[in-house]
Formats: sequence, structure tokens, C-alpha cells
Amino acid sequence: MKTTTIQKIKAHAILNQIPIIQDEVCSILKLLIETFHIKKVLEIGTATSYSAHVMASSGADVWTIERNTSRYEIAKKFLKDSDHQSQIHLIFDDALTHVLKENDFDLIFIDAAKSQYITFFEKYQHYLHPNGLMIVDNIFFHHLDPLSVKRPTRQLLKKIEKFKLFLSSHASFHSHIIDYGDGLSISYMNQDNYRDIVSIIQTSMDQI
Ligand code: SAH
Ligand code: MG
Repeated sequence: MKTTTIQKIKAHAILNQIPIIQDEVCSILKLLIETFHIKKVLEIGTATSYSAHVMASSGADVWTIERNTSRYEIAKKFLKDSDHQSQIHLIFDDALTHVLKENDFDLIFIDAAKSQYITFFEKYQHYLHPNGLMIVDNIFFHHLDPLSVKRPTRQLLKKIEKFKLFLSSHASFHSHIIDYGDGLSISYMNQDNYRDIVSIIQTSMDQI
């Protein structure tokens, strides 16, 4: 059987200790993209484009931002031989300062520096379609106990807690935090879709 680009990227990431989304996150992203017929995705944090390929293989076009030179170069190499070349748009820049040309995304997936989650959310929410979903990865941050880690990690855990508080008190977004992979938050604005989204998330979780 032919090894797909996705399998190659995953194997390379494991060998070289490059972070990638966990299998459960992979499954739920695929399910949400298929169920909501998501066509246009923005990703913050490409790494070597594993998650971008996962989302493209479910039928979405993906714009993805990475600031690390070597990871961007590796992603570019993988994309050259990929079946999803025309669907994935690699952007080499810092997402904190990047000026995006596209907008109206159906899904924004934030998977970059954990300490900047609020900043990313506030900046990129304006690029989301009113019916779109905002998903953030690593909400649990390995379930670390703040009392048993060193100061920098404790600071990071505090920032993630702040982000959760930010989500729960957000005036226009509803959020669910789900215990999948390393913890995911799923947020959306449109209240009319509330029941649909909750039941679809529930069904998706039961299927995985
Ligand atoms: N989504 C990837 C994994 C991303 S790992 C996958 O599942 O395959 C997080 C990545 O975010 C790292 O490669 C890091 O360089 C990048 N990153 C962190 N902060 C960033 C920023 N401000 N702008 C762009 N990329 C950033
Ligand atoms: Mg992640």
C-alpha cells in the first residue's frame, strides 16, 4: 500500500519530536468538518502541516500560519508531493502580527503558543464567519498539577486558566470544553445553532 503524505508527516513528527494533534483531536476535527460542511479553515500553528493535511483530507481548504523557519521549510517540502497541494496555503509569518488577506473562515483552529491564546482569539475572531467555529487545542496542557511544576510552566498554566475564564465570560461566544486529546475548546457565536452544535458535538464524541 502506498504511504500517504499524512502518514509520512506523522512518522517524521514522531521521529523528530515535532508536536502534532492527538488522534482524538484528529477524529473530532474530521467529524466537525464533515458534519458542518466546513470549506474554509484558518490554522494558527502549522508545525510541519500534519493537522492541515488532516483537515484538507476531510475536504476543507486550509490557510495555515507558522513562524518557525525550519518547520515551515519542512511543511513546504511535504506539500510539494501532496495530494492536497491545491487546498493548503502555507503562510510563513508570526500570527501575532500577520495581516491576513482572507476572511470569512468556517473554522479557526488555534494550536500555537499557549501563552497567547487570548490574543489569538481576540485577533482572529474577526476573521470568522458568523456561523463559524473557533477551536483551541491543549486546553488541559497535559493535566499538569500547578503545585508540582516549575515556575515558567506554572505561569503558563495560569495563562491557560485565564483563557478558560475569558471563554466562559465571553459576551458573544458560547464555548464547550471537551476532554479529548489534551483538551479542546469549541466556541461559536450564532445562538440559533446552539442546540444543533451541542448535539452534534455530543454525537461526535460518542462516535469516537
Ligand atoms: N498544528 C500542528 C502542531 C502545531 S505545534 C499539527 O498538529 O500538526 C505549534 C506551532 O505553533 C509550532 O510549530 C510553533 O512554531 C508555532 N507558533 C507558535 N507561536 C506562533 C506564532 N505567534 N505565529 C506562528 N506560529 C506560531
Ligand atoms: Mg496542539
